Amino acid sequence: MEDSPVELPGRLAILPFRNKVLLPGAIVRIRCTNPSSVKLVEQELWQREEKGLIGVLPVRDSEAAAVGSLLSPGVGSDSGERGSKAGSSGGELSKQDTKNGKEPIHWHSRGVAARALHLSRGVEKPSGRVTYIVVLEGLCRFSVQELSARGSYHVARVSRLDMTKTELEQAEQDPYLIALSRQFKATAMELISVLEQKQKTVGRTKVLLETVPVYRLADIFVASFEISFEEQLSMLDSIDLKVRLSKATELVDRHLQSILVAEKITQKVEGQLSKSQKEFLLRQQMRAIKEELGDNDEDEDDVASLERKMQNAGMPANIWKHAQRELRRLRKMQPQQPGYSSSRAYLELLADLPWQKVSEERELDLRAAKESLDQDHYGLTKVKQRIIEYLAVRKLKPDARGPVLCFVGPPGVGKTSLASSIAKALNRKFIRISLGGVKDEADIRGHRRTYIGSMPGRLIDGLKRVSVSNPVMLLDEIDKTGSDVRGDPASALLEVLDPEQNKTFNDHYLNVPFDLSKVIFVATANRMQPIPPPLLDRMEVIELPGYTPEEKLKIAMKHLIPRVLEQHGLSSTYLQIPEAMVKLIIERYTREAGVRNLERNLAALSRAAAVKVAEQVNTLRLGKEIQPITTTLLDSRLADGGEVEMEVIPMGHDISNTYENPSPMIVDEAMLEKVLGPPRFDDGEAADRVASPGVSVGLVWTSFGGEVQFVEATAMVGKGDLHLTGQLGDVIKESAQLALTWVRARAADLNLSPTSDINLLECRDIHIHFPAGAVPKDGPSAGVTLVTSLVSLFSNIKVRADTAMTGEMTLRGLVLPVGGVKDKVLAAHRYGITRVILPERNLKDLSEVPSPILSGMEILLVKRIEEVLDHALEGGCPLRSRSKL
Ligand code: ADP
Repeated sequence: MEDSPVELPGRLAILPFRNKVLLPGAIVRIRCTNPSSVKLVEQELWQREEKGLIGVLPVRDSEAAAVGSLLSPGVGSDSGERGSKAGSSGGELSKQDTKNGKEPIHWHSRGVAARALHLSRGVEKPSGRVTYIVVLEGLCRFSVQELSARGSYHVARVSRLDMTKTELEQAEQDPYLIALSRQFKATAMELISVLEQKQKTVGRTKVLLETVPVYRLADIFVASFEISFEEQLSMLDSIDLKVRLSKATELVDRHLQSILVAEKITQKVEGQLSKSQKEFLLRQQMRAIKEELGDNDEDEDDVASLERKMQNAGMPANIWKHAQRELRRLRKMQPQQPGYSSSRAYLELLADLPWQKVSEERELDLRAAKESLDQDHYGLTKVKQRIIEYLAVRKLKPDARGPVLCFVGPPGVGKTSLASSIAKALNRKFIRISLGGVKDEADIRGHRRTYIGSMPGRLIDGLKRVSVSNPVMLLDEIDKTGSDVRGDPASALLEVLDPEQNKTFNDHYLNVPFDLSKVIFVATANRMQPIPPPLLDRMEVIELPGYTPEEKLKIAMKHLIPRVLEQHGLSSTYLQIPEAMVKLIIERYTREAGVRNLERNLAALSRAAAVKVAEQVNTLRLGKEIQPITTTLLDSRLADGGEVEMEVIPMGHDISNTYENPSPMIVDEAMLEKVLGPPRFDDGEAADRVASPGVSVGLVWTSFGGEVQFVEATAMVGKGDLHLTGQLGDVIKESAQLALTWVRARAADLNLSPTSDINLLECRDIHIHFPAGAVPKDGPSAGVTLVTSLVSLFSNIKVRADTAMTGEMTLRGLVLPVGGVKDKVLAAHRYGITRVILPERNLKDLSEVPSPILSGMEILLVKRIEEVLDHALEGGCPLRSRSKL
């Protein structure tokens, strides 16, 4: 496109453009079929050697003219218009069409001179009519001075509208025009960059922007938009550069906005599509790809493999039918459908459950079983004997419905490990189901599948995990199940343990019966008392009452230390824990019935040692590179006279074998303190705490085994109230009330007040506290301890620090027997207490207490509370002298 102004002849042949405008700079391709324009092209362009210019003049349909204004909007305001004499004030020339005579043609008074870039001639076949296809380029604006006919087409006398070069140069100085053209360019640039993102072919347009003068650009841009005829006309009429630029800027901007809005809308629509339809489309594509690759459809395949798994699961016939029904339902579902995944999970469970799979039970060798029990567990002779009996019965009658064994005892006494030994002896798999804290029946029996997130119960889940139908199943902490509004887990357990009912155990989630009769159940509990009696009735209780310090020492030396060392990758060549130190750990760092904390402390020592050993191995390895270390390997090389070369130790080679750790680490008291911290318990505790009157030492039974429980009483000014603190249950509160009543009733006898008509609580309150507030306390066996504490307070006589007591009391002062005697005696022993006051009727229980413990203790059996006081208070019972009266 040339920039220099075109030479415009005085006369131009006029090609009418019906309802269309050719703007300067625009290139159009037109097909001429109408006889007058064919004539024009033929005469003015086709037959001429030197192709001249023709004028393109917009014409308006009469219809459009009737509707639209006849006046061109640009004309009136067009101050720069020159030489336009046609039409009085409008831009339109009306001329009677000579041919049809009736309809006037509305010629626009301004047009654009155009040059033919390309011409082609065609002859229509049957009619022989000639047509032309012309590619025209708009060059410059003109205004029509006079319109006349030349043969069948029009010719016009025209005058130029565009400025001359000098005029242009002048106009370009106008700051307003400069601002306008800058604005136009910016808008045009924006449009280009938007278009650029959509199609990559706008590079050329960008070049235009830099090379073509802005007033021409305005026309070029506008010509490329689809805008209304009126707008095109008004653009044509914008002779003044300022008007043209601001109009063009407006149009470009409008176009830009319409593109942006359109884009936003498509994006939105696409976004709405994306969720479901996109996935669908992708799936379709994936399917197509798979087909192309010859792969089977994945979903189909998935379901098919599930079906195969189900077939191999060995389900009973009726359950297989049920499963197939469910499978058919699954097949009909789309994977995106809500029920699909839950239905699938259910079928997976059906397929995974061990309907028939069992672990092969080998011929039971009782001797081997006994040996293995002995190997894993120290002591526990009676318990092991009972287990062997149990196994023997099973050997003789494999499907015998013996009672369920239930190990009862404090934590860490070996209940779990005994149960797993049973599994080992029977060559069955072992699975532990923890029931601690289970309050919801659904935990045992599962949720119905109608609930969202429903699951099978713990038993069915356990069976799925262990994947055989005859494991040894440990129902751990069966005493910790509670019942509340969500049903009673114990009653569900009852069904599980009942050989009559567990053949068809019904899990709500599974919804088909499962045979539990091949499972061997073993239960554990910390205490017997919370187990509901019907459940207890199904079980044979084997009590494991905690160990004496001597037993613990043996267990530690024989079992725990080797096991812990191994677990930490150590051996006795690295770490030795002497007996004396283990004893110290037992006495000062643990006060428990079992050996769990002991094991934990030993593990802590091993960890500390492991760090040291690992560091040592490291320094050895580093040191080797710097200085020779005498090993046989290096020695021989040295003997060869060669230099010490680095020896490359192959990967995975155990360094510990190459370099024998020179000296094992031996645990001493300093290391104990360093690793385990300062001792947590000492024997002097009881003595310290009973240093003042009002404090007595009781023995209680908690789920952790026997415990020493101090009772503190104090008096203060008040109104005779009794205050109790220290996490107390109802029973213990009653015991306290009872004890106070008894003491008040016997105040005079006990020498606590001069006469019986004096109120012991006159103007004072009593506060009784059970320390260790975090441990819940209940049970009646604190009765004697409470009385002792109160009498000690009122009489101001201290309680002996070496004496502990337990026993329930009646209102009349009789001492009744209590449970857990062995544990309590052991607990007292752990605290270094040497005298224990027990109800006389507990005498029989003493046979359970290991004799080494008994021999080191003085057991004082009592019938009445006065005897307790006599034994417990320093200097005996204050009552003595009087009661004998
Ligand atoms: P529980 O189930 O009674 O709480 P565990 O069976 O878990 O206790 O025992 C805790 C740890 O103590 C286990 O490592 C176990 O092997 C060990 N243990 C307990 N009693 C003995 C014992 N008599 N002989 C050897 N190890 C024992």
